[in-house]
Amino acid sequence: MATTYSPAPAVASVVAELVRKHHSALQCNTRIVCLFREPTPMARGRLLLASVRIVTGLPAYLMDHRDLARERNPEGELNPDGVAPQPFVLILVARKEWPLLPPEQWLPVLDHQLCHIHVDPDTGELEMLPHDIEEFTQVVARHGLYTHELESAATVLRDAGRPKQLVFELEPPADPAVIDLHKGQDVTWSTGTHQLRGQVVGVRGEIADVQRSDGYRGEAPVAQLRMVRRAAG
Ligand SMILES: [Zn+2]
Repeated sequence: MATTYSPAPAVASVVAELVRKHHSALQCNTRIVCLFREPTPMARGRLLLASVRIVTGLPAYLMDHRDLARERNPEGELNPDGVAPQPFVLILVARKEWPLLPPEQWLPVLDHQLCHIHVDPDTGELEMLPHDIEEFTQVVARHGLYTHELESAATVLRDAGRPKQLVFELEPPADPAVIDLHKGQDVTWSTGTHQLRGQVVGVRGEIADVQRSDGYRGEAPVAQLRMVRRAAG
């Protein structure tokens, strides 16, 4: 199956929000293009939800000058000297998984992608950054926090147990004995491998019929449903 790409404005708006809040260096001049990709590629045995790259050179040129008529200088003449390509950031997101995961799970995934991009403060050039820490857990288990990077990461990990900046508030799991699940209620539930979202269509005892946000109809145990309501503001 050939890989297909499509515009992802919903991703772009989350990315714009992250840039505004946490990546001010990207705010000024960096163009960030967000596309959906399907099918979802696998990386080391896992679904690759998102990836990022800097597009330079000929592909960047073609992005702006797909037809010669657009390659004009300010006087409106065809540009005889050519134009330097304008590099940009490309974020690819798994189209199939996008509606399945709640927004609070996409925030860190997209934040991660943006952290890979460095803007040189002097030249404005874009550069890919590697991860702060890359280590095998078994090495840490055997030898402890043997670098400064691991020490500071351990501090961050210890402090990270609190949820931040939730776009959606999740209510505690519904108790089927007391909860009155009504038709149209937005819910989320876990299948073990995926977090799914949808709307309740009906309830039959302990089982709810749900219209999933990816378009499929399905069933979910009432006890596992969490109600979703939009947080104020
Ligand atoms: Zn990464």
